[in-house]
Amino acid sequence: MSKGLVLVTGLTGFVATSTALAFFEAGYSVRGTVRSADKADVWILVFPQYKDRFEFAIVEDMTKPNAFDEAVNGVDIIAHIASPTHWNPKDNEQDILLPAINGTKNIVNATKLEPKIKRVVFTSSFAAVVDARNPPPAGKVYTPNDWNPITYEEGKASAEPRWAYQASKALAEKTFWDFQKTEKPSWSGSVIAPIATYGPPQQPVKDLKGINMSNQYFLAMANSTFKQGVPAIGFPYCVDVRDVALAHVKAVELDVAKGQRYLLVGSPYKPEQLVDILVRNFPMLKDKLPEVDISTVDITPPFGIDTSKTTSELGIQFIPLEKSVVDTVSKLLELAVQFGAI
Ligand code: NDP
Repeated sequence: MSKGLVLVTGLTGFVATSTALAFFEAGYSVRGTVRSADKADVWILVFPQYKDRFEFAIVEDMTKPNAFDEAVNGVDIIAHIASPTHWNPKDNEQDILLPAINGTKNIVNATKLEPKIKRVVFTSSFAAVVDARNPPPAGKVYTPNDWNPITYEEGKASAEPRWAYQASKALAEKTFWDFQKTEKPSWSGSVIAPIATYGPPQQPVKDLKGINMSNQYFLAMANSTFKQGVPAIGFPYCVDVRDVALAHVKAVELDVAKGQRYLLVGSPYKPEQLVDILVRNFPMLKDKLPEVDISTVDITPPFGIDTSKTTSELGIQFIPLEKSVVDTVSKLLELAVQFGAI
């Protein structure tokens, strides 16, 4: 028997696919929102073992008013994961800020229509925690109490799309908390804030270009893009998508998680460590990567992040860097072979 019906928004994405699988594995039924029916058909074909506990709802554009009103009908739990997660907007406001913020407004407003809803978990980001435009002071340790102060206008006007994304996550998360303060819904809310998320991509893709943005980093390493040197992506920390997925499940199951914000941050890393892991585990990639001598690299992270609450309250034991990278690249190479790219 199912433990309840979970609405997972943005089902076909990287984080949402792994999260939906984690909810299935924990015994729930899942209704995923998708932009079109064919996307749901393709998704469930990949996971036929969950067909009997799967439903979908079409939400073509969550920015539109009342976008989720039908999708929430009959659900017990919501995981709101959908958000523009790319750095190539034509227009910061239309393509990043408004979908993130209005999508969140629409989902929380829709909860007024379904009294069965007990828990809502919102997928934020470390981008909502840290102001990446300014280097942190020496010795800084980020905690769940930190907030990125970036404004809507700064995100809208910025020529750097990353700042539009950062603003969209901070402001969408604030929308989520503000609704709970002002509307006092009968459900409890929790936030999962992951840093750069790697891990095996499970979502169906038509080609390698369809792989989500964070894992494109490894594809770039595998096709010689960084032969002269690998840059760090975002911050020098990462987390595995399987930990992020499990955290969503724990956040809606545990009483302690009500009203709480959790940082999902696994290992610190230096790009040289990634190269070292790839060369040792995938010798065929050696010629595509720069030479590194890991013994000469200072791997001390420039700032700290306190994830003790995530470990102690949600029970997440973060997957080690080496396992995460090996599993990610194994899956990406499998897809590359499938698409005839290597
Ligand atoms: P993906 O791009 O893989 O998934 C995003 C999902 O949101 C897709 O299903 C997309 O649908 C959907 N979506 C976007 N805009 C709209 C819209 N206007 N209307 C309806 N659906 C929409 O990204 P990730 O899985 O990487 O990210 C998912 C969440 O996790 C986001 O909230 C992101 O901020 C957060 N996150 C991700 C991190 C990472 O490194 N990947 C790190 C920290 C947080 P479609 O594909 O059909 O456009």
